[in-house]
Amino acid sequence: MRVIVLGAGLLGTTSAYFLQQLGHEVTVIDRQGTPGAETSFANGGQISVSHAEPWANPSAPLKVLKWLGREDAPLLFRLRADMRQWLWGLQFLRECTPARTRHNIEQIVRLGTYSRDTLQQLRRDTGIQYDQRTQGILHFYTSAEEFDGALAPAEQMRALGCERQVVGADEAVRLEPALAHIRPQLAGATYTAEDESGDANTFTRELARLAEAAGVQLRTGCHITALRTTGGAIDHVEITNAEGRFERVRGDAFVLAMGSFSPLLAEPLGVCLPIYPAKGYSVTMPVRDASAAYQVSLTDDEYKLVFSRYTSERGDRLRIAGTAELNGYQRDLNPVRCEAIVRRVEQLFPGAGDTSQAQFWTGLRPATPSNVPLIGRTKIGNLFLNTGHGTLGWTHACGSGKSIARIVSGLAPEVDFAFTGMPRAVSPALMPAT
Ligand SMILES: Cc1cc2nc3c(=O)[nH]c(=O)nc-3n(C[C@H](O)[C@H](O)[C@H](O)COP(=O)(O)OP(=O)(O)OC[C@H]3O[C@@H](n4cnc5c(N)ncnc54)[C@H](O)[C@@H]3O)c2cc1C
Repeated sequence: MRVIVLGAGLLGTTSAYFLQQLGHEVTVIDRQGTPGAETSFANGGQISVSHAEPWANPSAPLKVLKWLGREDAPLLFRLRADMRQWLWGLQFLRECTPARTRHNIEQIVRLGTYSRDTLQQLRRDTGIQYDQRTQGILHFYTSAEEFDGALAPAEQMRALGCERQVVGADEAVRLEPALAHIRPQLAGATYTAEDESGDANTFTRELARLAEAAGVQLRTGCHITALRTTGGAIDHVEITNAEGRFERVRGDAFVLAMGSFSPLLAEPLGVCLPIYPAKGYSVTMPVRDASAAYQVSLTDDEYKLVFSRYTSERGDRLRIAGTAELNGYQRDLNPVRCEAIVRRVEQLFPGAGDTSQAQFWTGLRPATPSNVPLIGRTKIGNLFLNTGHGTLGWTHACGSGKSIARIVSGLAPEVDFAFTGMPRAVSPALMPAT
């Protein structure tokens, strides 16, 4: 089958790789010059199955209200005259009940565990390198109240097979000695030994290279402008190609993986996707004092920041990322937010990074109200989705890519997840071997 993948971020690239592995003739189209150049460019780097608690949870509405208008708020709604933003906000509120939160955690953990296993298998199969670290993720708390609030979700995650262990402050410092500096403020931590980190952009470019070597056609510099149907199915995609010319690209199946821009292409076809851009920030800086820098990937609950370290022959870098701002598609850097992140890094790990060389970046997370991504079929038979991965697109990339490749191929996915437009998957034990 000829499959056209729309978008070459983490999700489009993993989809293309696994589609090719299943024997399809695959073309990937992206407007950027290289794969992974938009939201998959400088994210937090965490493969964090343990980061499964969605933004929408019972404590969220009060926090969001408290944070309204605060420039350095971890999650900031900037209310706009934008119907899509308001609708998204209402759907978000509906996802904040205890029952919906439990359901969403279950979905996120199942896909996360499968995806991490798929990434590890891919690493064994291909030897792909992307500054990965396999030292787990330590989630630390400087507020006793927040720490207490994390115990029930952590227990639920353990029941679902994600070994997120609760550890005391001393144990947290033993696991990551660079935290010794803030030992008096530590209320507690959780540690997930199986979680990982790595540079998502390097991964995307390397995987695209492997896919191309295997026969995938990668068309960069091409703007996708519309999907056109004939007889109830997608016939072709219209693009402005790299030479600036109008072109129709035909295929048998189309996988929509355009991140935050996916709903804009789907809407004219009557396929409404509950995705809204949630702008996040990251800071990358060279390590200045290696002994003061963290080794383990970290999550700072109070500031909603994640910390990864990338060490290879290309250098030794610290990446810190987080915060979310729902304010449409603009990607400007707000200096207040940038400074707040750098201040926090200096407070936690004084002298570890060279802040004078800090590089700032923003990206638009394709957020759904539930944090659960949209993977599967649409009402248009040959249009498939692999989008809406929000905060966890790196964690979920390999599992989502492999699953959509199987769905497009008419095979059952290997994970029990509520795939869009599909009956709930049967137990993996009952699935046909392929
Ligand atoms: C600050 C921040 C920190 C994060 N940290 C983590 C983390 O630690 N762990 C984790 O798991 N996830 C993290 N994420 C989330 C993760 O980065 C995203 O979920 C993921 O990158 C989304 O990938 P995507 O392929 O869906 O979108 P994208 O990477 O944005 O890819 C979409 C592609 O579509 C292309 N495109 C769009 N419109 C068009 C068009 N009209 N024509 C042609 N091409 C088009 C774009 O060029 C782009 O390449 C973070 C995100 C942010 C912003």
